[in-house]
Amino acid sequence: MKKISVIVPCYNEQEAVPFFYEEMVRVEKSMQNYSFELIFVNDGSKDNTINVVRELAAKDEQVKFIDFSRNFGKEAAIYAGLSNATGDYVVMMDADLQDPPALLPEMVRYIEEEGYDSVATRRVTRKGEPPIRSFFARCFYKLINKMSKTEIVDGARDYRLMTRRFVNSLLELSEYNRFSKGLFGWVGYKTKWLEFENVERVAGETKWSFWKLFLYSIEGIVGFSTAPLAFSAVVGIVFCIVAFLFICVIVVKTLVFGDPVSGWPSMVCTSLLVGGIQLFCIGILGEYLAKTYLEVKKRPIYICKDTNIDKE
Ligand code: UDP
Ligand code: MG
Repeated sequence: MKKISVIVPCYNEQEAVPFFYEEMVRVEKSMQNYSFELIFVNDGSKDNTINVVRELAAKDEQVKFIDFSRNFGKEAAIYAGLSNATGDYVVMMDADLQDPPALLPEMVRYIEEEGYDSVATRRVTRKGEPPIRSFFARCFYKLINKMSKTEIVDGARDYRLMTRRFVNSLLELSEYNRFSKGLFGWVGYKTKWLEFENVERVAGETKWSFWKLFLYSIEGIVGFSTAPLAFSAVVGIVFCIVAFLFICVIVVKTLVFGDPVSGWPSMVCTSLLVGGIQLFCIGILGEYLAKTYLEVKKRPIYICKDTNIDKE
C-alpha cells in the first residue's frame, strides 16, 4: 500500500485546523488504497494551534506534528515537512482549505497512470483578493520570468503532489534563502499543471501583508536571477556613454562659441540623478551580498522544539 504524506504549514490556524482535518479525513475515505500521514508544522503560532494539533495526534496516530521554536516562515515549514515525510508521495497543503484536498485523487492518478513526477496547481482567478495585490502579483510574475531561466508560473500555489525522487531532489537544495516556487521549477522532472478557481480561506485570516509579499518577491528575484546585477552594470555603461557625449558637446561649444559657465541647476539635477542611481545599484549589490552572507553562515533552516515523529 502506497503512503501519502501531507504537509500542512500552520501559523495561527487554530480555527482552520479542525476544518482541514475533517475535510482530509473525508478525502482519505475515498482513497482506501492508500495510507496517510498528516504532518502539521506549527510555525511558531501565537494562538492555540499546537494544542489543537496535539489533540488530533492523541486520537489519530496518522497525525504527526513538528513544533518550531519560533516563527520561521512558510518556506521553513515546508522544508521541515519535506525532510520528515516518509511517504511514497508527498503533498503540501495550506491549513485554510484554499488548496482543496478533494483534488488529491486526481493528482495521484496523474502520477500513477501518466508517469508525471509532480502534479502542481495554479489558480486561474484571484477572486476575493484585493485588486492592487493581484496587479502587483501579475507584474511580479512577468518580471521574474523575464529575468530568470527557471520558469515561475503565475498563480502557482504551493499545493503540489510529488514522488519520492522529486522530494529527494528538492531536499538536496538545502539553501537557507528558500523560494519554493522557484525550487520546484529548478529541479525539473515532468510536471502536470491542474487549474482551479480561487477558494477563499475557511477561517482565520491571511498571514501575508502586502509588505511581506513584497519582501518575498525580492527573495524570489534575488534567489533565481542575477539580472539585476547585470542591469546595474548596463546602467553604469549607459551613463558613461552619455557623460562622454556631453563632454564632447561642451568642449566643442566652449571652443566654438566661447560660452561662459552657466547652468548650475542642471548640474545639481544631474549629480542628484547620478548619485541616486549609484546608490540604487549599490543597493542591488547589497541585496545579493546580504543573501550570500546569510547563506555562508549555514544556520539551520528551522529549530524543532517538539515533535511526535521519531526518526530512527
Ligand atoms: N504560514 C506559515 N508560516 C507563516 C505564514 C503562513 O506556516 O509565517 C502558513 C499558513 O498557516 C497557511 C499557509 O502558510 O497554512 C498559507 O498562508 P495564508 O493562507 O495566510 O496565505 P494566503 O493563502 O493568503 O496566500
Ligand atoms: Mg491561504
